[in-house]
Amino acid sequence: MTNKTKLVFASGNSHKLNEIKNIIDPKITIVGMRELGFQDEIDEYGVTLDENAKIKSDFIKERFNLNCFSDDTGLEIDLLNGRPGVYSARYAGPDCSFDDNMNKVLAELNEHEVRSAQFRTVINLWWNEENYSFEGRVNGHITHTKHGENGFGYDPIFMPDGSNLTFAQMSLDEKSKFSHRARAIQKLVEFLNTKVNP
Ligand code: IMP
Repeated sequence: MTNKTKLVFASGNSHKLNEIKNIIDPKITIVGMRELGFQDEIDEYGVTLDENAKIKSDFIKERFNLNCFSDDTGLEIDLLNGRPGVYSARYAGPDCSFDDNMNKVLAELNEHEVRSAQFRTVINLWWNEENYSFEGRVNGHITHTKHGENGFGYDPIFMPDGSNLTFAQMSLDEKSKFSHRARAIQKLVEFLNTKVNP
């Protein structure tokens, strides 16, 4: 891969930007959309993760005409028929906090024993005028109470299969061994490796 392969990440979420910079090949320079001077939020009006990911990467592609990618993630809980899913960010209402969202999920699951869930990330990439999509998933379950202080979103109540820690009890490196986003990013990196100096 050549030096200075620049790719814009169509997100203003600094947690996600750090996670992605932590995973991605160091020869790819990831630039967050805030670093381009874009301070607004992109309206996510899609009804699926795929649609929202495409809406965000289309927006940045049209505005800056640069290679770029976006991600959209949802927590899909089996007992809740896949909710909160595409509505994960604002599950408890328009101005809700991460705690509000987790409290709503915990209340809905109550003490139910069937707590299986998955995180799913869809990445949409514009690369040299072609559009691509990648997906990463992790299966796990929703814990009965919150554990851990790290990460963001639903991390304190999601325990991936194969671990006895929630994502919020893991370091960034540990989380990246399991995470939906890391798996989707891995597919993105493998793709880029075939495109840049194959
Ligand atoms: P987004 O569409 O990728 O911004 O994700 C939507 C929502 O899903 C976020 O606001 C978080 O509540 C949640 N979420 C996304 N990724 C993660 C994660 O890695 N851990 C916990 N929650 C996440």
